[in-house]
Amino acid sequence: MKISEVVAGKASQNIITIKPDASVRDLVALLATNNIGAAVVSGDGTTVAGIVSERDVVRRLNGNDGALDAAVSEIMTSNVRTCESGSSLDEVRSIMTEGRFRHLPVVDDGRLVGVVSIGDIVKNHIDQVEFERDQLDSYVHQT
Ligand code: AMP
Repeated sequence: MKISEVVAGKASQNIITIKPDASVRDLVALLATNNIGAAVVSGDGTTVAGIVSERDVVRRLNGNDGALDAAVSEIMTSNVRTCESGSSLDEVRSIMTEGRFRHLPVVDDGRLVGVVSIGDIVKNHIDQVEFERDQLDSYVHQT
């Protein structure tokens, strides 16, 4: 299965990005409002400059009360691992497992076209298992 199918199956196709000069305070509001764990950092909405997750926020906030006024660029990860629409599910799973991160931007020809989270991958797996179970069930019980 290709990652484009996982992206197409998501409840929302919205790609949530934040500008590098936005504040951590803005980021916290964005993550909370959209009920997400990470945002792609981008100046123009299509080029990936970094990625920032709730984990980066927690690290920065720990023992640093002024952290909410810092810029997102100060806490983001600049060396972003990405995949393409045509990447396989297995490929993406191993990138996430090896990198120990839960979010992966999907980039085609330098343009951001989606984001997949470990939650999307798990949901896709459960849907697949349920589909196969239903197929087997109707095969076994056909008259
Ligand atoms: P996460 O597990 O996605 O919340 O992220 C854990 C850490 O990995 C944070 O420091 C993120 O900035 C970083 N991170 C998340 N996704 C990526 C990615 N695709 N490439 C590189 N770093 C990432």
